[in-house]
Amino acid sequence: MVLLSAAAAARAILISLHEVMASRSGPQAKLNQIVEVIGAKLDSEVCSIYLLREGMLELFATRGLNQAAVHVTRLAVGEGLVGTIASNIETLNLAEAAAHPDFAFRPETGEEKFHSFAGVPIVRRERAVGVVAVQHVDPRRYEEVEIEALQTVAMVLSEMIANAELIDAEDALGVSAQQTGPERLKGQPLVKGIAAGLAVYHQPRVTIEQIVAEDTEAERQRVYLAFDRMREQIDRMASQAEFGVGGEHEEVLETYRMFAYDEGWSRRINEAIDSGLTAEAAIERVQQRTRMRMRQIDDPLLADRMHDLEDLSNRLLRIVSGQLGTAASMGLKGDAILIARNLGPAELLEYDRRRLKGVILEEGSLTSHVVIVARAMGIPVIGRVRGLRGCVRDGDQLLVDGDQGVIDVRPLPARTEAFETRFAKNRERQAHYAAMRDVEPVTRDGTRISVMINAGLRDDLPMLGLTGADGIGLFRTEFQFLVSATLPARERQTRLYRDVLDAAGDRPVVFRTVDIGGDKVLPYLRHNGGEAEENPAMGWRALRVALERDGLLKVQARSLLEAAGGRTLNVMFPMVTEPWEFDAAKAVFDGQLAFLKKQKKPLPEAIRFGAMLEVPALAECLDVLAPKISFLSIGTNDLTQFLFAADRAHSKLAERYDWLSPAIMRFLRRVVQSVAPHGIDLTVCGEMGGRRLEALALLGLGITRLSITPAAVGPVKELVRKVNLPDIARAMSGWLDAPPPNLRAALSEWACQRGIECD
Ligand code: PEP
Ligand code: MG
Repeated sequence: MVLLSAAAAARAILISLHEVMASRSGPQAKLNQIVEVIGAKLDSEVCSIYLLREGMLELFATRGLNQAAVHVTRLAVGEGLVGTIASNIETLNLAEAAAHPDFAFRPETGEEKFHSFAGVPIVRRERAVGVVAVQHVDPRRYEEVEIEALQTVAMVLSEMIANAELIDAEDALGVSAQQTGPERLKGQPLVKGIAAGLAVYHQPRVTIEQIVAEDTEAERQRVYLAFDRMREQIDRMASQAEFGVGGEHEEVLETYRMFAYDEGWSRRINEAIDSGLTAEAAIERVQQRTRMRMRQIDDPLLADRMHDLEDLSNRLLRIVSGQLGTAASMGLKGDAILIARNLGPAELLEYDRRRLKGVILEEGSLTSHVVIVARAMGIPVIGRVRGLRGCVRDGDQLLVDGDQGVIDVRPLPARTEAFETRFAKNRERQAHYAAMRDVEPVTRDGTRISVMINAGLRDDLPMLGLTGADGIGLFRTEFQFLVSATLPARERQTRLYRDVLDAAGDRPVVFRTVDIGGDKVLPYLRHNGGEAEENPAMGWRALRVALERDGLLKVQARSLLEAAGGRTLNVMFPMVTEPWEFDAAKAVFDGQLAFLKKQKKPLPEAIRFGAMLEVPALAECLDVLAPKISFLSIGTNDLTQFLFAADRAHSKLAERYDWLSPAIMRFLRRVVQSVAPHGIDLTVCGEMGGRRLEALALLGLGITRLSITPAAVGPVKELVRKVNLPDIARAMSGWLDAPPPNLRAALSEWACQRGIECD
């Protein structure tokens, strides 16, 4: 053939196809004409169209193969070259078809004389509903421009076939569901639990209504405008540093900018428009081609980049089509498993809690805010799942096992039944724990253990009543900041704190002043002068930010003091590293207290100040700090990451070190001993206290106050009631003096022998 540009070749075919489409002939006659048009334009002896019918790819029309084979030759998805193209949704371009391992010879077609073969899937809603193939006598691969023309044609065919009802849309979906069958994906368990529901993408894929353009110039203008808007959005994100959560965002943003300004990308889209496609179809067309190319390159770095481009391409599509809403704005229709690249806590909270059953993130880490919020909501989360978009479609049935980090996609009935059994067991367990609401956590030797909850949102407050917890041992005030679009004004802060105290009634609430920074970057607060931090967890965060920007702490102090008028206020400072930092923070409160006194405003009845022990250095100065404070709370999430020098958000390190190690336990024992003479409350408020075996170890160290995730209150209360403190104290003391090879195993065996269930 005379090699035209891809656009010109495709356009020439599209014009002819248009004529065929406009004709009055029936669908079969149209298909017969289409294969002639494509064959002639691509100068191919053979052009065939296979469509899915009853789960099989049936030869619907051909030029060049035996006509007797039409509606006779049928291939299963995955069978032969045509079946392979459909099952992998990929293009094949072969000089010698018979040499391909998947080649399946069908004598009735008479195709033995044709050597070269190229086939493209006809894709509808991301599923292959057919294949268009061309064949040559000459053993030569098709040129790139020919393949591209064929791919554009396949897009148009997909629309035409659906409109002509040559394939029943529902039938095609049903058949394709079988076609893609069950699959299993693995990720990192971030929040435990199990869930079942239908896949819902946070940012749904755009449905393309029209593929062939009526006015090419108008389509070009639409794409120009969309590019402009997208670039503006990306630039704005950069200036606000608001993009994503977690330390990766800078890098992602850079890649986004690179793509957004990539001339090659916009040029390819323009070429696709030249070939007669609408703006939407052109963007999708280019994306399909990139997807196919990338699939052939096995490089994880490129796969990541591909992921970014997918995201951006979808963004462009959403702008151009005006389909801008997230799945939250459309509302969940039934039990849903939400899929997102990453989410902010506010975005998660926009979803209907009754219907949101699980979350799958392509990124995500244990400490990302969304994960902490999901944990508080009792929603299982799996993170760092690769290959999601290629395998899961909107509406697919999913089973999420947050305990193992496994996702079953389109599960077989046996698997769903096994899940049902687990659900039933979970429900039984929950009912059992709910019934323990009023049971007091008293050990067998009669010690009353204080079991409190960690909270941070208004929505968490009902958990106090539901669990029968002794209070809120850690109220993460920064959550209000994280879910707000702007810095929460003093009145809003005061209102929340007052509501929290009202909900708690007689039970104590410990308000931790804002712990922002680190991985909790606020979009509206320019952080660290806009500089990226090398080690944000050890960087400008928590009290370090609050003391430098004392306006922030002043407002919060005023809000807390006002909200607690006439009641007891417990204030705790995070990340205290040296005792003077506590003094400085307390001075801010003293200043505000003096101001309120002058104003004759109602003051708290009592104010108790405390500190979090999260930085190891503070443990060396407890003798200095303890006389100044009423309580100390050990934040084991941060403390252990600093003791092990292992980033708590690093997925590779997540399982490497065990909290139940002699190092951590000996450290905690020393802290218990240092604090004891001062008679102040000592609590553990890290995630550790919510795990039963770990809680048992803490009891053995002499810790009698735990603040934990609400779901753990029942299990921990049950544990407490089975423990005899002197026994576990003796055992722990022995193990810490002469550590066994595996402390966890020793502790677990000890518990098991005494009938103490510890998961
Ligand atoms: C901790 O570090 O253990 C803690 C409770 O604080 P956060 O998890 O909010 O950092
Ligand atoms: Mg912390």
